[in-house]
Amino acid sequence: LYNEVQDLKGSIRVFCRVRPCGTTGDSAPSCLDVGLDGELAVFTDKPGDHKIFKYDKIFDGSSSQVAVYEHLEGLVRSVMDGFNVCIFAYGQTGSGKTHTMTGSRVPGDLEGRGVNYRALDDLFQLANTRSGEVRYSMRAQMLEIYNETIQDLLTDYPPGTREYKLLATKPSGQNVTNITQLAVECSEDVVAMMEKGEKNRKTAATQMNSDSSRSHQILTVIVEGENIITGARTSACLHLIDLAGSERTDKSLVEGDRMKEANAINTSLSALGTVMHNLAAKSKHVPFRNSKLTELLADSLSGQAKVCMLMHVAPENSSRGETLSTLNFGNRVASV
Ligand code: ADP
Ligand code: MG
Repeated sequence: LYNEVQDLKGSIRVFCRVRPCGTTGDSAPSCLDVGLDGELAVFTDKPGDHKIFKYDKIFDGSSSQVAVYEHLEGLVRSVMDGFNVCIFAYGQTGSGKTHTMTGSRVPGDLEGRGVNYRALDDLFQLANTRSGEVRYSMRAQMLEIYNETIQDLLTDYPPGTREYKLLATKPSGQNVTNITQLAVECSEDVVAMMEKGEKNRKTAATQMNSDSSRSHQILTVIVEGENIITGARTSACLHLIDLAGSERTDKSLVEGDRMKEANAINTSLSALGTVMHNLAAKSKHVPFRNSKLTELLADSLSGQAKVCMLMHVAPENSSRGETLSTLNFGNRVASV
């Protein structure tokens, strides 16, 4: 079913967000410049030499959380009309993915809140506005994929005591066995849920002697609507994905668990790139089954689904190699 790809109506968007210089303690100067024309220039080692990248939108280091969300709002809201939506944060560790998606955890810092909070708040507000016509219900799940294995981030069961299998015949939102789904009705529910998920994610990482940048985190909101007058029903998922760090691990320096992690991340990110590229090219064969990530999201990437890739780059020239590789990934999924 999922390998038969329906028409994709130009529904992949690629944005790029440049992190401000120095937030990770790296004192190297910037090698990036966002021009007034909205192009991103990456300066190479040679004086005067640079490469130019263009995306649907580029956010420079001074862009606020609000500004970023403004460009995602339309996409997020379409889930209320029955479209599946995926928003991915892609980039090397330290490039600002978690800042964009989760943002500030300081209570009361509403300005600092990331896409996850803003999107859910927006959906609640929209449900309220439309409550005369459509009755909406929303539930959420939060999971991570580590070494190609799914972990439930909202479970009360101790890690490792339950098995989460992917059901290829079910749509996303119903395709993970045993996964915890919580009803969400207001921002307070969301804040509590995310705190629980983040805490579980840290515990799991510590137990596996790893860190959370090595797994993909996926927050899924399942929105069901019933038109009060016509009885027509819609059901769709919004997936908010903070991907594992895309940095290339030097295979000659790592072994054992770190090697296994690096291989798993590499497999899933390249599977994601290939799937998106093939979807954009309207290719007949889309290899969703090549990774858990793409298999999990198959029906939310294809068909009528809408996808946004938020490429994150660190500006310091010490990160130039990774930045170029991130930007090339963005070009690959955007091209065609
Ligand atoms: P990642 O999740 O990609 O590993 P983080 O989101 O943790 O990266 O960002 C690394 C550091 O830079 C954090 O301290 C974060 O708060 C900071 N940072 C990232 N993006 C921004 C931004 N746009 N504005 C201010 N600080 C940022
Ligand atoms: Mg992170």
